[in-house]
Amino acid sequence: MKIKVWGVRGSLPYGIPSTVINRKVKEALKAASGRKFANDAEIDEFIEGLPFPVKSTYGSNTPCVQLSGGNEYVILDAGSGMRDLATYLSGSGELFANDACKKFNVFISHFHWDHTMGFPFFIPAYMPDIEIHFYGGHHTLRKAFVEQQEPIHFPVRLEEMPSKKSFTVLREKNEYEIAGFKVKILKQIHPGGCFGYRFEKDGKVFVYSTDAEHSLESHKKDYEYVEFIRDADVVIFDAMYSHIEAMDSKLHWGHSSNLTGVELAERAGVKHLVLFHSDYKYDDFELEKFLADTKKYLSIHSPNSKMKITTAYDGMELEV
Ligand SMILES: [Zn+2]
Ligand SMILES: [Zn+2]
Repeated sequence: MKIKVWGVRGSLPYGIPSTVINRKVKEALKAASGRKFANDAEIDEFIEGLPFPVKSTYGSNTPCVQLSGGNEYVILDAGSGMRDLATYLSGSGELFANDACKKFNVFISHFHWDHTMGFPFFIPAYMPDIEIHFYGGHHTLRKAFVEQQEPIHFPVRLEEMPSKKSFTVLREKNEYEIAGFKVKILKQIHPGGCFGYRFEKDGKVFVYSTDAEHSLESHKKDYEYVEFIRDADVVIFDAMYSHIEAMDSKLHWGHSSNLTGVELAERAGVKHLVLFHSDYKYDDFELEKFLADTKKYLSIHSPNSKMKITTAYDGMELEV
């Protein structure tokens, strides 16, 4: 399986403020102080060695993740990152490579704006040869997408997009075979409910689990979520808040902290925890510190753990 992340921000897209760009330039200039570069290749090499928040960004788009390795496209959520995915597909010519490239399976966690706002801008949806199969745990799956494109919200109605569309409601406890993957869903605590997805193929496991709060129940020995992510190779986890926020000012807002992610993933034997749904109020330097704090917590909580922890960014690619 391959995972490509097209959008990572929670609640709202994020634009890098000029103050942060200024800091990136300043840090890069300081690092380059006294150095001479003979050509662009040497400059590229220097940039490559800079810290991530200086040379790059954790991203701007709201959630959209692509899972490859099955026999058709699999997309998790339709946030603003879906537009960049569409731009890539249109530019690469991939869409017309074969018939399987015309079939999209779009799994929707829930209908909050940040998880659906990219769909009206998804270019393949405007092509008659394209099939888009939506899956979700909510019975209002079709209604949510129809209403998002009512004329009061958007100039093109869903039924005016020429692609063929279908909507399938999945049930917990069932196991499905979709696009070459075994798929299970789990309802998570979030306003209106939000579904996590577990994908399995060739002995590999990937879990997409965004927008989920883990209450005190999560400390119970038989907490269902731990089984849901059990032995996963990669878990994309809602780590929107700091531990203090999750316990205090943002209690019951439906999101989790980085520390809860570490504890649950460690209990479940997860190999790679990916922090996701990053708060739009954090800049790249703050997210870098957030990641460092998370790794430090793991080293205290489970000193012998080999679990890898990263923070998702727009354009991140993982091979499982
Ligand atoms: Zn969200
Ligand atoms: Zn939400």
